[in-house]
Amino acid sequence: MNNYDVVVIGAGPGGYISAIRCAQLGFSTACVDNGMGVDNKPALGGTCLNTGCIPSKALLDSSHHYAFISKQAADHGINVSGVKLDIHKMINRKNRIVQKLTRGIAGLFKKNKVDWLQGQGTLLGNDKVKVTPAGEEAGEEYTVSARHIIIATGSIPARFSFAAVDQNRIVDSTGALVFKEVPKRLGVIGAGVIGLELGSVWSRMGSKVTILEALDDFLAPVDRQIAAASEKLLARQGLDIRLGARVTGTGVNSREVGVSFEQGGSKQQLNFDKLIVAVGRSPNIAGLGAEEAGLELNENGSIKVDEYCATNLPNVHAIGDVVRGPMLAHKAAEEGVMVAERLAGQKSEINLDLVPWVIYTWPEIAWVGKTEAELEEAGVSFRAGVFPFAASGRALAAGDSDGMVKILSDADTDQVLGVHVLGPNASELVAEAVLAMEFDGTSEDIARTIHAHPTLAEAMHEAALANDGRALHI
Ligand code: FAD
Ligand code: NAD
Repeated sequence: MNNYDVVVIGAGPGGYISAIRCAQLGFSTACVDNGMGVDNKPALGGTCLNTGCIPSKALLDSSHHYAFISKQAADHGINVSGVKLDIHKMINRKNRIVQKLTRGIAGLFKKNKVDWLQGQGTLLGNDKVKVTPAGEEAGEEYTVSARHIIIATGSIPARFSFAAVDQNRIVDSTGALVFKEVPKRLGVIGAGVIGLELGSVWSRMGSKVTILEALDDFLAPVDRQIAAASEKLLARQGLDIRLGARVTGTGVNSREVGVSFEQGGSKQQLNFDKLIVAVGRSPNIAGLGAEEAGLELNENGSIKVDEYCATNLPNVHAIGDVVRGPMLAHKAAEEGVMVAERLAGQKSEINLDLVPWVIYTWPEIAWVGKTEAELEEAGVSFRAGVFPFAASGRALAAGDSDGMVKILSDADTDQVLGVHVLGPNASELVAEAVLAMEFDGTSEDIARTIHAHPTLAEAMHEAALANDGRALHI
């Protein structure tokens, strides 16, 4: 039996980053993973690299270029004719990017001397992991021992009996990344992050997309002003988003899929060529042997951990999507680093209140910290500064001037409490806000920081000035 200082189960962004950091800190480290790549062979990287963040962004970027060439290039005086989509090539490009990155992790494992154990990991108490290799050429199962175990088994699409995924007519996010042709009529259940991102991809490529969302509010967790503006822009792009529409059943025949839903007290039905089910993700503990090992779980099936990701079992930590908190790759990765460093005796911590969110629609939506509604509910008095991209020279030059930056700060101390961006490259702009908030910065700090001209980041500067009623360009 091989003995390791640390065995990590799962090689998504939580697990692979944690394994590399453990090895950097001098621990002998192995990472057990049962993930398969786009070629159906073992691949590192988990959901994020294989079927999540990276492939979805590759298709978002490709479809964005197509939409630009088809609809906006002429505004720039660029007339293009004969524009044609080659879906096969687009999907292959996405696959090549995924493989480059997943193979890159294998290279990083080699460089850092992390052993990649291919197969399913099952806990045997708190110091042993059984590895069961999968596939035709898989060997016998075996056991490794560990002084520390880090569980990073991630999440899987939530399943509901009203929409059984067959990856043909009814697909989850993984199936929606490999359509062979553009569906004429595409239905989506759930106007959450996945529904809006993948709905945008196929809408830009020509699908008539209808999104059915059970809640009455569009993007309920997002700041109301930002959500309202985004809803209008997405409708203008052709997305038919029906709020208060709770899907209750589906039926498939050889030609189409019928979706039944309730809206405003009436029962309705729509038919589509394809249906994407995007109704959330569930923590993944399948095959982990969590209950047999005595691991304490939360009601939703996630593994119970404290602020440092320690479980109830001594020497066992859990990180990423399989524990509480936002299901985001960067949150998983930072938890992985924190656990590795704490095992090495360092005092690392992470602040879950400052995890940035991004929704990669166009314009993008990004935020960190509290929304206006959350501050109101908590009885905090605050000031808001808003600056529209319509007044940004850089945004106008780019032809991308929809949206705004909004900075919320404490009315007494001016400390920044929340920053919300709807606009071009919001995903990049929010980083400045996270940094400011990590240092307990004020909106005055952002207002006194020199921002290059002409840049989109000047909108952040102006929103900080607006927070004190002294914006210069509105
Ligand atoms: P995962 O990435 O889920 O990795 C878990 C790994 O563990 C997998 O390889 C799995 O096969 C393996 N595993 C599970 N059980 C076992 C076992 N018993 N033994 C061995 N191996 C096991 N997040 C963002 O931050 N930005 C984005 O843009 C973004 N886009 C997304 C787009 C889509 C379509 C989806 C579905 C998700 C997206 N996410 C995004 C979410 C992101 O993918 C997850 O938050 C992230 O992958 C979680 O990382 P993780 O390490 O916790 O788990
Ligand atoms: P989500 O929680 O964001 O959205 C699911 C939506 O489905 C909700 O709005 C919910 O009200 C709706 N819904 C549920 N049941 C319904 C029904 N019967 N009828 C109609 N609507 C219904 O979940 P998701 O979009 O599946 O994404 C899962 C998670 O994956 C995200 O929360 C996020 O953590 C992660 N993710 C992140 C990114 C990113 O960071 N850009 C991208 C994709 C996924």
